[in-house]
Amino acid sequence: MRQVRVRIAPSPTGIPHIGNTRTALFNYLFAKHHKGKFILRIEDTDRVRLVPGSENAIKEIFSWLGIHWDEEYKQSDRILIYKEYVQKLKEKELAYEDNGAVRFRMPKEGVNEWEDAIGSKKILFQNKDQEDFVILKSDGFPTYNFANVIDDHLMEITHVIRGDEFISSTPKHIQLYKAFGWDQPVFAHLPVILGPDHQKLSKRHGAKSALDYRDEGYLKEALLNYMVLLGWNPGSDQEIMSLDEMITLFDLPGVNTASPIFDVKKLLWMNGIYIRKSQISNLKSQIISQNSKLKNVDDALLDKLIPLAQTRMNTLNDFYTLTRHFFEEPKVVLDEKEKETAQKLYNAFLTMKLWDNETILSSLKNVIHKEGIRMPILYKILTGAPSGLPLPESLTILSREKTIKRLKKLLT
Ligand code: GLU
Repeated sequence: MRQVRVRIAPSPTGIPHIGNTRTALFNYLFAKHHKGKFILRIEDTDRVRLVPGSENAIKEIFSWLGIHWDEEYKQSDRILIYKEYVQKLKEKELAYEDNGAVRFRMPKEGVNEWEDAIGSKKILFQNKDQEDFVILKSDGFPTYNFANVIDDHLMEITHVIRGDEFISSTPKHIQLYKAFGWDQPVFAHLPVILGPDHQKLSKRHGAKSALDYRDEGYLKEALLNYMVLLGWNPGSDQEIMSLDEMITLFDLPGVNTASPIFDVKKLLWMNGIYIRKSQISNLKSQIISQNSKLKNVDDALLDKLIPLAQTRMNTLNDFYTLTRHFFEEPKVVLDEKEKETAQKLYNAFLTMKLWDNETILSSLKNVIHKEGIRMPILYKILTGAPSGLPLPESLTILSREKTIKRLKKLLT
């Protein structure tokens, strides 16, 4: 059997959203599962739609996620090759000049048919419904339909795994393979990802790029794990898996024929699972690199806070939200009733013999009981936020001195 060779062929027309990155992941996993090659091909022949910086963003996404490519090509470097193949079609009288552009002559009868690897379904198009299509534009650049096929052939691509929005282009591609007398690859069209409202996934649904998720404090392991389940399952209930496990388990028959639904809440839940699985040292370095305000913070303080926060964080950025009052004076405005409670806390803390979790807990309970208040009010008074890390532990770490000083300030 031939070595498996697959490609992701992004057009640098913007920063790809999570759906395109999932297609890349499926290609990568398929290649690695079959000990084949994963190729990155930048399809930059649509010069009008180029967006500066998007090629770098595409590569940054793959590098961050660990989706390593084995070979790399860029179509704008290969213009002469495409022109050569245009010439071949002209010589066979299968292509002709039209207003400075070159068109491919589609046959007017017969059908184009293939068995798609997703769901093993037969897809059929009538040639009479197809028009002669442009292969070389008047600016000298080939079209997507042409360059894509030439490259898939020359790069010996065995499986074309892409989104199902390309199904309608496939008859054109097949006709080009026939025109050159080349074998066509296996086509596998992935069902498009939908939002919870069953409309095509878009920004509206919280679908962003992998880089946006990184900035929001998602771990790459969680994002990879979430993406692989968008339209694939391992044939069991297993949901949590590492990249290595995905490589072992992934294959095309496991891809569902139904469209997956993108659920940002599930991604958040999964990120929380990965945060709780993380080793503290690893979590610490990720939390610090995520937030520049933490770069100069005392190491010993972070070592105390991170294990406490780990159980309550769903993103890396949650760390700062939960611990802000350790690094910044909380901004709190109290009403009269809250001020009374603050006074009671102040009195209790002042007379406490010990400053440890247990003693703090019992005086907090005391105040709650006597004042008939709820936890969010205590949090507000003591941290400036309605919830956060366990209060006794927080106050122990913050120190009695600081706690009392802050309460005093609130009361005056
Ligand atoms: N350049 C196309 C894209 O932007 C590639 C489609 C394909 O994989 O054939 O997605």
